[in-house]
Amino acid sequence: MTIATANLKKVTKKVPVRGMMDNVMEQFNSAAGQINLHPNIRKILSITNNEIIVNFPVKMDNGDVEIFQGYRVQHNNALGPYKGGLRYHPTVDIDAARALAMWMTWKTSLAGLPYGGGKGGIKIDPSKYSLSELERITRRFTFALADNIGPEHDIPAPDVNTSSQTMAWIADTYMSTRPPAERTANQHVVTGKPDGSGGLEGRDRATGYGVYLSIKFWADKNETSLKDKTFIVQGFGNVGYWVAHFLEKDGAKLVGVQDAFGSIHNPKGITVEDLFKYIKINDGSIVDFPNSNAVDKNIFFTLDCDICIPAALGNQITKDNAAKIKATLIAEGANGPTNVEGEKILLERGITIIPDILCNSGGVVGSYFEWLQNRNGEIWQLDEVMAKLDKKMKESFNKVYDYALNEGVDLRTAAFCIAIQRIEKAYIQRGIFP
Ligand code: GLU
Repeated sequence: MTIATANLKKVTKKVPVRGMMDNVMEQFNSAAGQINLHPNIRKILSITNNEIIVNFPVKMDNGDVEIFQGYRVQHNNALGPYKGGLRYHPTVDIDAARALAMWMTWKTSLAGLPYGGGKGGIKIDPSKYSLSELERITRRFTFALADNIGPEHDIPAPDVNTSSQTMAWIADTYMSTRPPAERTANQHVVTGKPDGSGGLEGRDRATGYGVYLSIKFWADKNETSLKDKTFIVQGFGNVGYWVAHFLEKDGAKLVGVQDAFGSIHNPKGITVEDLFKYIKINDGSIVDFPNSNAVDKNIFFTLDCDICIPAALGNQITKDNAAKIKATLIAEGANGPTNVEGEKILLERGITIIPDILCNSGGVVGSYFEWLQNRNGEIWQLDEVMAKLDKKMKESFNKVYDYALNEGVDLRTAAFCIAIQRIEKAYIQRGIFP
């Protein structure tokens, strides 16, 4: 009896689960070592500046009041106002918000933007709420965040399960709570707004287009074409759809898609626009799409293809599936989709990873254009936006690619080194108050 209990205890001993913060900190520390980052600056960048947790009540459609927990983590603002999305998802917690805020600091720095990094959201499954409930939740969250956000202080944007509609509600609530003469001057408190309400034409496709461009630049460097290349996409939301759209235009073939509801496969090809039309009449889900087979979610990443695009959540490519991935290129549309252990296996196998802070940076670059447009009272045209985005993405891609070649490091390490060095320079020039 005693022995059995002792054994049982041994077997059920808890192995600590690796969180997103473990991942981003390992990436940071490895790059910091590579560039011999000043120890004082390493201390500053290892921790977040501010962490705001708000609990707020919202009246539901049936009259009951529900309490929600919202987060905004502001990691660093050495280069400018905090910038980053708000996500509505059950996985949102303080660990995720910290890690995602840190990734934003590296992303905006790498892109050469005058921004720092922040991230936040609400721990919620939005599919369980009506549109009017989501509107009240969003407005009340904005009110609770109050002066912790602001157009020159901290500028949220869309992320997982938030959209231009969410941003319109935030902008309207924020502006409505300012003194009348200041209202319109605060439109750039959020980016990713609808284009009739201060939004930027093309912001919707900016992230996906940037992912596509990164893949195209990689193909150019490797003297190969995208024509007939096969690819799989995890997530068919704003990022997944647009990257698939642009890849298909270049002759590449979508052969597998996974969303929150299921996974589909067709080695002969899935037409992107047909799938997009289908999800509109199928409650947003890809499941049972005609001319495709359902596949087990655990084998999705192992499907035969040339390019794999995780464009959903973090921690998707891990030691459990990295050894079986067939793609030779991983383009990270999501934030943190590959964990450190998974990445090690991929790199040992010679698989190239275009890291999130480079690959999906088209979104925040588009946000920067929107912010400038609002700040200057301008309205930019779509072709102008796309051309500017192309130029910015190319500059970042080349910088990272060249650094990796010259220093003999992988693309993620190169991207982190460049991003951290820019912040280090600002601290060295400025010193630390007082
Ligand atoms: N949520 C996006 C990201 O993770 C966009 C952030 C922004 O535009 O501020 O990069």
